[in-house]
Amino acid sequence: MYWGRDTLDTDRGSDELVRQVESIAATAGAAAQRETVTEILATGVLDPVLAPTTNLAHPSETFCDALTAIARHSVELAEAVQVQALCANTIRRHATASLWSELGPGMREGRSLAVSCLSERNSGSDLSAVELSAVREGDTYRLNGHKNWVAHAVAASELIVYARTRDAGIGGITAFVVPANAPGVEVSEPSAHLQGIAIPVSSIGFRDVAVPADRILGRRDRGGLVTDILSTQGRLGLAACAIGVGTAALERALRFAKSHRRFGQPIIEYQSVGFTLADMATGLRAAQQLLSHACATFDRDPAGATLVCAQAKLFATDTAARVTGEAVEILGASAYLPGERVEMWMRQAKLLQTLQGTNRIQRLTIAARLDAAVAAHRGE
Ligand SMILES: Cc1cc2nc3c(=O)[nH]c(=O)nc-3n(C[C@H](O)[C@H](O)[C@H](O)COP(=O)(O)OP(=O)(O)OC[C@H]3O[C@@H](n4cnc5c(N)ncnc54)[C@H](O)[C@@H]3O)c2cc1C
Repeated sequence: MYWGRDTLDTDRGSDELVRQVESIAATAGAAAQRETVTEILATGVLDPVLAPTTNLAHPSETFCDALTAIARHSVELAEAVQVQALCANTIRRHATASLWSELGPGMREGRSLAVSCLSERNSGSDLSAVELSAVREGDTYRLNGHKNWVAHAVAASELIVYARTRDAGIGGITAFVVPANAPGVEVSEPSAHLQGIAIPVSSIGFRDVAVPADRILGRRDRGGLVTDILSTQGRLGLAACAIGVGTAALERALRFAKSHRRFGQPIIEYQSVGFTLADMATGLRAAQQLLSHACATFDRDPAGATLVCAQAKLFATDTAARVTGEAVEILGASAYLPGERVEMWMRQAKLLQTLQGTNRIQRLTIAARLDAAVAAHRGE
């Protein structure tokens, strides 16, 4: 494997899992079809995330390797698997035991998909600005409002919805698990103008949607705490997707540079092209090492991994954006030919910088922990 890590073979079954999901993704091609997502989930790819007590020595890294392998063929497919992992893990950690036992098996095997509904017209980076309201009526809450930018919503059967239950900024947000077929939920068709990035995104209307109180995740008014998985495991997953798409772009650019001739020789023989490819490969290797370290930190101490998960997401997605951009430049006009995917990868890599906390937000997270960052650098 290009991005391969040395420890992979020490995990019983993990290398086989990665090969299995990669072969499904390679056969399926680019489209994140519902059936392909289900087929991948049916391999048990979420087990390292959902059952970290499995006998794997490196559960998070195993899952990230699987995502990277999928993203090398289809970043949209990897992103769909990543969203499912994020949502399933959020429900596992924060739902009641009975709700998890009702939803968990279907989510794990891919029979039901869940999505995360956080963004609104006035709330993207800033969760405290959520306006969608949830008003208590006995044992039920009534949800009213709108969510935007919900990826894969058309295929979802459960929605994790962040709603306002009290007028107190971040201290008044509650997270609910809402069945997508509940009366009053209206999921729009995916935005046509976003087809260029191949991730289906919908807006969702909530009109008087009744949700039982036992579908609250965590505690009422404490929805901000439920986003912990998004800030750690979610960021690891996005970094893994970025390394996959970056690797695809590097492989494509390398093939092209070896075969494309100008001024009488393959362009890879020009030092500026060769050096560019060298920098691309080095950046990806460094991103992989940082991700590997972040995964190990998360497996050891999830609550203490926020800093390094933000660093891994920031570095891997910035690297992927640079690497895919360089790949487009190496292909020249050929990057824009029909059927050539490198230009699409550039747009997707750019998108990964925005998802799950823009990279400016990652920098805010890191800046707030600079003492810890310096201590980590000293090996303390
Ligand atoms: C394809 C796609 C799929 C998506 N999927 C989902 C999904 O499934 N669920 C979901 O809930 N959302 C989803 N989103 C939304 C995504 O999470 C948001 O776009 C992202 O959180 C940024 O929010 P925003 O676009 O509103 O940007 P804003 O928050 O408006 O930010 C605009 C700019 O200001 C910067 N900025 C904001 N605040 C600060 C600050 N304090 N300091 C410095 N800079 C700041 C940002 O970094 C950014 O550069 C998706 C978006 C896309 C495009």
